[in-house]
Amino acid sequence: MDKQRIFDCIIIGAGPGGLQAAIYLGRFNRSVLLIDRGGGRTTLAKNIENFLAQKVISGQEIVDIGMEQAASFGVGIVRGVVGSVRKGRGVFEVSTEHEMYQGKFVVVSTGGKENIPDIGNIYKFFATSVVTCIDCDGYHFTGKKSLIIGNSIRSADLAMGMREMYSKDMTLVLCTDKLPDDYKEELKDEGIRLVVGRPKCFHGRETVESLEMEDGTVIPCEMVMSHFGFKLNDKFLDGLNLKKESDKRTYQVNRHFESSLQGLYIVGPLSGHDQVVIAAGEGAAAALDIKKRLLEM
Ligand SMILES: Cc1cc2nc3c(=O)[nH]c(=O)nc-3n(C[C@H](O)[C@H](O)[C@H](O)COP(=O)(O)OP(=O)(O)OC[C@H]3O[C@@H](n4cnc5c(N)ncnc54)[C@H](O)[C@@H]3O)c2cc1C
Repeated sequence: MDKQRIFDCIIIGAGPGGLQAAIYLGRFNRSVLLIDRGGGRTTLAKNIENFLAQKVISGQEIVDIGMEQAASFGVGIVRGVVGSVRKGRGVFEVSTEHEMYQGKFVVVSTGGKENIPDIGNIYKFFATSVVTCIDCDGYHFTGKKSLIIGNSIRSADLAMGMREMYSKDMTLVLCTDKLPDDYKEELKDEGIRLVVGRPKCFHGRETVESLEMEDGTVIPCEMVMSHFGFKLNDKFLDGLNLKKESDKRTYQVNRHFESSLQGLYIVGPLSGHDQVVIAAGEGAAAALDIKKRLLEM
């Protein structure tokens, strides 16, 4: 690859957001470089059922097919970890461990990293009967013996929402005893069992069957929601002083997903939504705006 070249667009992250942007820009015959370190959150999703026109598809398949599609439209793909993005004289400099690449526009779609609690056997059941996202997998709790594990008031809110939508048989395990009394009352009124303590280990053959607590209590369950959130992969944006939303976590973007720094677009969980179809749509919207801006240049 010609290292002196200035790409029309550099895309960081090959999840659905970055790949969709790459496919659009590749098909606009623009010079596009996609940099990815591999192993993103999408690849953890085993059965995605809420993606239009795909009855069920794994996250790994979406990424593999997307990579092939992007490459077939001339997108250059490199493996690497982006450590920094700088802007000088109208051109972005995107640096990995070994190289620096230049681009007129940048799309950031680096997603996040799951916070997975330290509970025995969690990886045996992860993404099948122990899941992390109500919008993705709440449906699988329908009519099931359900367990939510968390450490905040938000986990109690989640339990009440899930009880309303999916299952009346609901236990909430909280690793903190800081739940206000009115919440405890509300959970009781809703028929949600509250257990406060430290989870030790999951048990089950093919799917999860119970959670053993450190004090020896065993809680039977068929589906578990592990509610500990995820960290954003955004360290490399630190030097840019980008504006954030009031949550102090996600980035402010306009309706084309351009951040407060002109020419730098942010899609996927970093700009707020955590769904494959939305990340892909945002990647497409960013690419359309970049196409227009390149024509105007
Ligand atoms: C278990 C599980 C199940 C899920 N199920 C569903 C579902 O059913 N339906 C649904 O819509 N959504 C689901 N999601 C959410 C979905 O995975 C995310 O919304 C989606 O991954 C966000 O897309 P993204 O483009 O930000 O990509 P990601 O998949 O997060 O990809 C980001 C990419 O950027 C790369 N990257 C990160 N930092 C750097 C760096 N510094 N340099 C280079 N590359 C970097 C990563 O390696 C990764 O390849 C699920 C998530 C999980 C964890």
